[in-house]
Amino acid sequence: MKGQRKCSLCEAEMELSYVPMEEWKMDGFLCGRCYSRKLAEFYPGEHVRVEPSEK
Ligand SMILES: [Zn+2]
Repeated sequence: MKGQRKCSLCEAEMELSYVPMEEWKMDGFLCGRCYSRKLAEFYPGEHVRVEPSEK
């Protein structure tokens, strides 16, 4: 077993892992791509970014 975490959704190995929101009812961790996709699924219309940007 490698120390690297795998994404719960796509099973890709992750350098950066994201903790899913509680309301997603998921175990494990997500990669940035799946995390963004989940955000878009759960909060359609809202442009939630993984990394907040400031103006
Ligand atoms: Zn993924």
